[in-house]
Amino acid sequence: MPRTVLVINSGSSSIKYQLIDPVAGTPLANGVVERIGESDGVINHSDTHGNVEETTNIADHDDGLRLAFDMFSRDGGSLSDWNIVAVGHRVVHGGTVFSQPTIITDDVVRTVEKLSTLAPLHNPPNLLGIEVARRMLPDVPHVAVFDTAFFHTLPQAAKTYAIDSAVAEKHGIQRYGFHGTSHEYVSRRAAEFLGKPYDSINQIVLHLGNGASASAVQAGQAVDTTMGLTPLEGLVMGTRSGDIDPGALLHLLRVGGYSVDELDQLLNRQSGLKGLSGVNDFRALSELISQGDEQAKLTYDVYIHRLRKYVGAYMLEMGGVDVITFTAGVGENAPQVRADALAGLERLGIAVDSAANAERVKGPRMISTPDSAVAVLVVPTNEELAIALAAWDMV
Ligand code: AMP
Repeated sequence: MPRTVLVINSGSSSIKYQLIDPVAGTPLANGVVERIGESDGVINHSDTHGNVEETTNIADHDDGLRLAFDMFSRDGGSLSDWNIVAVGHRVVHGGTVFSQPTIITDDVVRTVEKLSTLAPLHNPPNLLGIEVARRMLPDVPHVAVFDTAFFHTLPQAAKTYAIDSAVAEKHGIQRYGFHGTSHEYVSRRAAEFLGKPYDSINQIVLHLGNGASASAVQAGQAVDTTMGLTPLEGLVMGTRSGDIDPGALLHLLRVGGYSVDELDQLLNRQSGLKGLSGVNDFRALSELISQGDEQAKLTYDVYIHRLRKYVGAYMLEMGGVDVITFTAGVGENAPQVRADALAGLERLGIAVDSAANAERVKGPRMISTPDSAVAVLVVPTNEELAIALAAWDMV
């Protein structure tokens, strides 16, 4: 067995994990534990011995991760047979403290705990995963890889909100950005694909999944991104609103009778594609559009409008762009979105080749015409591999 890295992404009621050979860059096992805290919890695990699904009572994260570890030894072997040399943990919020992958110590845990006020839905379950995994695998280094880290280079002008600076300072209110692991991985892959040094080109990365964000990466450094203090700002997402006039929230609080929790629910879970059309899955939205549903069409138009607005803004901010890359579920699989996002921009040097765009191929690919000054790419994201490589680098 080669040396491997276990990657853990621990959420409030689920734990996703992948065992990766960092040298070959391939997964050897993966799984997901869902409905933690419920009597009908479920684990789905695949490795070289095949796939298993089991429904059982999973009381807490401890139980969940133990169940996952048991899967690795279900055929009479033991976990040590898998030769795990590091564990990489996805941590959502690193605040201004963590700008790099970091070996987890008790001090690091305490700091991530403190940052939980900025990400109350994410950091606490990330920490639960860390705590349990450190107990179960005490002899290997655990590395935290932060979703915000790639964006620590944002210039002050991009990260500062124009509110009372003392209030902002007191409450840590600034743009942090998220999906950083994906934006960095994809922008590095795009440069590799083009055979250009990472620090020699200007890039726009469009991470369009259920969550969605765009970034501007100038000469190898992130200079802007659409997500802000929280992952709610920016593009239209599956269930999140993205940009909205903050005055609308005040109005809903004052006049609409909303409580803070109701507003949170509205903006995070009942907005975006779902709020506008009733469905949050892009395939379902496309299906509604093909049936002539006008509200679904409007939803799509709002989605594309927001996307184009940021592409334009980032081109101007960087004084031009060399490559625009689509990634994540929608970005990798919805050719219509790619075509509409960049339609009619020939005089800005952007021309998508419709045949190349329509092709369904795996792996990084170019979808712009040979004479497009700006390269347009599709590059599949792989956050687990990026986390594994970061952890591997640390050890
Ligand atoms: P992610 O969060 O990256 O897993 O992306 C999830 C989103 O990708 C959902 O909105 C899916 O509907 C969308 N998606 C996945 N496959 C396709 C596809 N073949 N065509 C359009 N959208 C897709």
